[in-house]
Amino acid sequence: MKLEPFNQDIEQVLKVTTWSKFFTEKLVVGFTTKSGGESKAEYESLNLGLHVQDEKTLVISNRKKLADILHFPPETWVCSEQTHKNKIAKVTKSDLGAGVFTYEDGIKDTDGLYTAEKNILLTLCFADCVPLYFYTPSKHIIGIAHAGWKGTVQDIAGEMVRAWGIEGVKPDEIHALIGPSIGKCCYIVDDYVMNLVKGLDHIDSKPYEKIGDTQYRLELKELNYQLMVRAGIPPENIQVSSYCTSCENQLFFSHRRDSGKTGRMMSFIGFKED
Ligand SMILES: [Zn+2]
Repeated sequence: MKLEPFNQDIEQVLKVTTWSKFFTEKLVVGFTTKSGGESKAEYESLNLGLHVQDEKTLVISNRKKLADILHFPPETWVCSEQTHKNKIAKVTKSDLGAGVFTYEDGIKDTDGLYTAEKNILLTLCFADCVPLYFYTPSKHIIGIAHAGWKGTVQDIAGEMVRAWGIEGVKPDEIHALIGPSIGKCCYIVDDYVMNLVKGLDHIDSKPYEKIGDTQYRLELKELNYQLMVRAGIPPENIQVSSYCTSCENQLFFSHRRDSGKTGRMMSFIGFKED
């Protein structure tokens, strides 16, 4: 079964280096590809999203496969109902199993999850949007967020940093990883989106390129990187994947490339303790 990246494979697929210094038997971080599952047709084959029109039993089966590989049983996962906003939820053991078998049972209206507890796998689903991972080695708090253009311009990255501030974590204690997403090569937006991007304060050079009267290429990974830096995460603590989900047809589902009918990859982070 091809399933990358997680743990030892992450360097190869996310093309990160220093993030791997955190990888131990205990910290499990990664992003799935589209290979290795049982789903068919446009969801072929490792679709992990329950909210698309795939057969539910196959999605559950795919989720169980991933759980086996990660040694995190499905009952220890937490999923959310992602709505392209910037709400962050603090997850505890009382949330275990949320949204794993039934989409409607996920944590409501939430695009960012974090926890200070062990043996919880935080998960979110993706097909072009930007997966953001957060970790503080000193306090072992972990988090993930889902940043499409809406979550990005609503600064979900900064919201996570500020939520951790309430937990007593300083921004310079946070390490972050920006995973595979649609790149500027394939992501074209209009004036409506670009006006919101242009409205973001204190960002030196916004990562876009005008290509027509009302059309722009936008690099969402870079914009999230800049928002993380604006929130106080040191640049040297941030790793950015070079993968474009739309270009890499063999590796990833892509909502844009596949005209909306496609599967979902999953980002996950969890800390194990015996
Ligand atoms: Zn591309």
